[in-house]
Amino acid sequence: MMKFILNQEIMEIDAPLGSSTLDFIRNKGVKGVKEACHEGECLSCAVLLGEIRGNTIVYNTIASCILPLGEIIGKHVVTIEGLNQEALNPIQHALVDEGASQCGFCTPGFVISLTGFFLDEKLEKKDILTAIEGNLCRCGAYAAITRAAEMLANKISVEGKKFEERIQILIGAGILPPYFVNIPSQLIKLEESNKTKLHEEGTYVAGATDLLVQHESLSDPVFLSEKELTGIWVDNGYIHIGAMTSMEDIRISEELNAIYNIKDHLTLVSALPIRHQATIGGNLVNASPIGDLIIYFLALDAEISLINDKDGRIIKLRDFYKDYKKMDMKEGEIIEWLRISNKEKLFNFEKVSKRKHMDIASVNSAISFDLNNNKIQNVHLSAGGLAPVPKYMENTSSFLENKEISADVIKEAVSIADSEVTPIDDVRGTAKYKRLLLRQLIYAHFITLFPDLEVSL
Ligand SMILES: Cc1cc2nc3c(=O)[nH]c(=O)nc-3n(C[C@H](O)[C@H](O)[C@H](O)COP(=O)(O)OP(=O)(O)OC[C@H]3O[C@@H](n4cnc5c(N)ncnc54)[C@H](O)[C@@H]3O)c2cc1C
Repeated sequence: MMKFILNQEIMEIDAPLGSSTLDFIRNKGVKGVKEACHEGECLSCAVLLGEIRGNTIVYNTIASCILPLGEIIGKHVVTIEGLNQEALNPIQHALVDEGASQCGFCTPGFVISLTGFFLDEKLEKKDILTAIEGNLCRCGAYAAITRAAEMLANKISVEGKKFEERIQILIGAGILPPYFVNIPSQLIKLEESNKTKLHEEGTYVAGATDLLVQHESLSDPVFLSEKELTGIWVDNGYIHIGAMTSMEDIRISEELNAIYNIKDHLTLVSALPIRHQATIGGNLVNASPIGDLIIYFLALDAEISLINDKDGRIIKLRDFYKDYKKMDMKEGEIIEWLRISNKEKLFNFEKVSKRKHMDIASVNSAISFDLNNNKIQNVHLSAGGLAPVPKYMENTSSFLENKEISADVIKEAVSIADSEVTPIDDVRGTAKYKRLLLRQLIYAHFITLFPDLEVSL
């Protein structure tokens, strides 16, 4: 029987591994974790998920509604019940004092996300609002919530502190109950007892942020987290990204940020808890025509490694997409990693959606090229939301190759791009609107990269 820790208690998972953690926890009578959208959109079901990584424990805020039970084996799941103490803790106090808890339905989720902020070694004081960016308050008490959050970030400092010291400070401040000090040793023991191999045939599951939105439960899950597919490493002139690497780990990667501004670009992709859970492999194979990471890496001329039990092959990402959700992927193959050259290029990513943050793109686009004697070389342009597949803009890229940067060249490129796409009317906008966005985004690439260039739109 598979086990995990729910707050202070070691629990056995006696439900299908492909079902939702939220449903499991609530069925066990732990009702502080709330159900609302069941699509990862509102975080009323937020939990902290703690796991051993190397020689430390990492806690992330996660949407438990789209977290399959198979992903919590051997981990620590924390709900509001696991944070409650005799009196209100400082986070709960701050929310009450600022009038930030009105109907109260979203409050447990906010407390979890704010606790997640203090537990996350990668977040700084200025990131306090990022920690709650995915939490919805139906009463609209955002001004009060923001005040409470900023007050807490000013009052309690754990910046630069490593896990053990951080836990001690947070217990001292009353944010965490004392039992948290015992969790690491309990997790190590659980890791030993859970060493059973799960089965190998069925639906591959990475972060499940697509799969558990589409299905209430997964009938035959094969959890890719069991395979060694995580990490970002430089080898032989390439930056490799393991398929199970989370969007957030990609966003903050030192290797990638050394050459691209991915830290800012990927803030436009979902909210922090989804970025913790969602993987690049899932984004690539979900094959959404507006998948943000696909568009990003198409323009960086990425290659992917596909493997099965016996062998593997490397192909260009742009050759992977054949038709709507149809890919060059054989039965039993999985994506192992994606790689891009580690040589810096001029690069820009743009995304337009109904809201600036936490929304699916209407149209997104990215471009990369070298500039030699004012000539555009090795250019790759991509655009999403304009075709049945995430579109590598082959004709426009070929046209731009070896051209000198000028307003006329960009205008002509825009016209070629327009002839290369086949958008349709849908909830994200009319075909006409999407064509207009493509034009604007291509201009935006050049205006961003060459602020002094005069282009009359
Ligand atoms: C609230 C919310 C907001 C979102 N916002 C955005 C956004 O702003 N931009 C965006 O692009 N997407 C967004 N998404 C979509 C989603 O998060 C991404 O597509 C995500 O990257 C999918 O990754 P995953 O690991 O969760 O995939 P999963 O759901 O686990 O899997 C998706 C598909 O990929 C397959 N798969 C996964 N990994 C592999 C592999 N290594 N090899 C072979 N097959 C594999 C699975 O079998 C499945 O078919 C959002 C989703 C939610 C719920």
